[in-house]
Order: sequence, then structure tokens, then C-alpha cells
Amino acid sequence: MITFLKNNQIPYKEHIPLSEFTGMNQMGILPLIVYPKKIEQLKTIYLKIINSKLSFDILGGITNTYLSNNYQRDIIIVTTKLKGIEKSDETIWVECGYSLTKIARKLSSEGITGYEGFIGIPGTIGAAAINNSGAFNSNISNVVKKVRLLTPQGHTIDLNNTELKYTTRNSVLKNNLEKGIVLCVELDITNKDTIENIQTKIKTVNTFRKSYVNFQNWRID
Ligand SMILES: Cc1cc2nc3c(=O)[nH]c(=O)nc-3n(C[C@H](O)[C@H](O)[C@H](O)COP(=O)(O)OP(=O)(O)OC[C@H]3O[C@@H](n4cnc5c(N)ncnc54)[C@H](O)[C@@H]3O)c2cc1C
Repeated sequence: MITFLKNNQIPYKEHIPLSEFTGMNQMGILPLIVYPKKIEQLKTIYLKIINSKLSFDILGGITNTYLSNNYQRDIIIVTTKLKGIEKSDETIWVECGYSLTKIARKLSSEGITGYEGFIGIPGTIGAAAINNSGAFNSNISNVVKKVRLLTPQGHTIDLNNTELKYTTRNSVLKNNLEKGIVLCVELDITNKDTIENIQTKIKTVNTFRKSYVNFQNWRID
């Protein structure tokens, strides 16, 4: 596998303590973590893992995943180096590892509305499109046009918003009715507003998020 990674110029780390990877205090060692930088590298390593029948997980920001003490996988794929975007007048394709907050900030700053509620949600757009992440009446399902999936059989398919069957924090991808990994996500960018109005919405969202966090802290204390 290491020779394969080197030949395909896919960055990797070996024998990483679980605690170092998660920032928490679990025991255990992760044998191999790979960090593809290009979608072609992600496809290559995924299909190699499938064909080699290795155990694996694909993770983004690990903000919605807890790895327990006895967690064991042959390989972990981390998507956070996949941050390419391709934009036209009506849509933008965003690679799965792009930060949800960063893309929301970027589009908001360009006068595109509908993304204000995502600012402050940690994690990647790929995971958000699976989980139907959202807050303050903004769900990612409101803006996702398509999700591009690589199936274990090696087929690249696009699922449109209807096919994703979004419900609250759920989709066909989350409940495994469609199998594969998310390569990139197409977002709607046709809803425009003034920068002033968007800034006002962002301020409201920030205020709500801060007061919610304060409330949570108050409960814990
Ligand atoms: C402080 C805090 C605040 C939060 N606030 C909110 C909120 O307001 N609203 C909300 O909805 N959520 C919230 N969350 C939850 C979390 O941020 C979201 O669910 C986010 O979408 C997870 O993204 P991630 O990249 O960290 O996912 P990860 O934890 O890395 O992965 C989550 C799941 O998605 C899978 N996955 C990730 N990438 C891919 C891919 N490319 N292909 C296939 N599968 C993949 C993983 O295997 C895993 O099963 C919050 C979390 C924290 C810690």
C-alpha cells in the first residue's frame, strides 16, 4: 500500500496515536491515514481499498464522529485537503473537503443569500450534504442541487436533490440506501440579496449561536 501511495503521490501518515488524530484522550494507534489532494487521488485510493478488501472510514472534519478506544481500521481517508471549486453563473461545484463555514462565508460575501445559517457549523460540505446539516431554518438541502458519488463498483453518479430524499438531518446517503463516497457537491447560487441584508442575517445567526452556546455552558455548570 505504501508503494501505491508513493506512486500516486498521495500524502499519508503511518502509526498515528488515536489521541493525536482526534485531539481527545483515546488509546490506540491508527496504522494509516491518507490525505488525497485531488479528486482523482481520492477515487484511486478508494477503489484500491475496496478491491483490496481493507477496512476503512472516510472522514471530513471529524466534528460529528466519535472514535472509541477500540476503534480499528486498516486505513482512514481524510478529505480536508480536497478544497477545489468550479463556479458558473448559476451553480458552484465544491469538493467534499471544503469547510462548510468557509464556503458559506465566501458565497455570502458575494451577495448570495441562503448560506447565512451555515456560518459557524464546523465540518466539511461533503459530510453536511450527507447529514443535511443546518441551523436557524437553513438546511443544506435548501441549496444542494446534486451530490456526486463514487460507488464501490467504481461508477461516478450524480444524485439530484429529490433523489437524495432529504429529511431532518438525514438523506439516502446517511441511512446507506445509496452506497459510496461523496466526491463533490453542486450548490445553487441564484438567490441574491444586498450585502447589507446578508450581513444583518449573519449577525442575527451569530447572536443566536452565541446565546445557544452560553445556554449550553450554563446548563453544564
Ligand atoms: C460545536 C459543534 C457545533 C455543531 N453545530 C451544528 C449545527 O448547528 N447544525 C448541524 O447540522 N450540525 C452541527 N454540528 C455537527 C457537525 O458539524 C455536522 O454534522 C457536520 O456536517 C459534520 O462534518 P464533518 O466534516 O466534521 O463530518 P465527520 O464527523 O468527519 O463525518 C461525519 C460522517 O460523514 C461521513 N463522511 C464525511 N465525509 C464523507 C465523504 N466525502 N463521503 C462519504 N462519507 C463522508 C463520515 O464517514 C461520517 O460518517 C456541530 C458539531 C459541533 C462539534
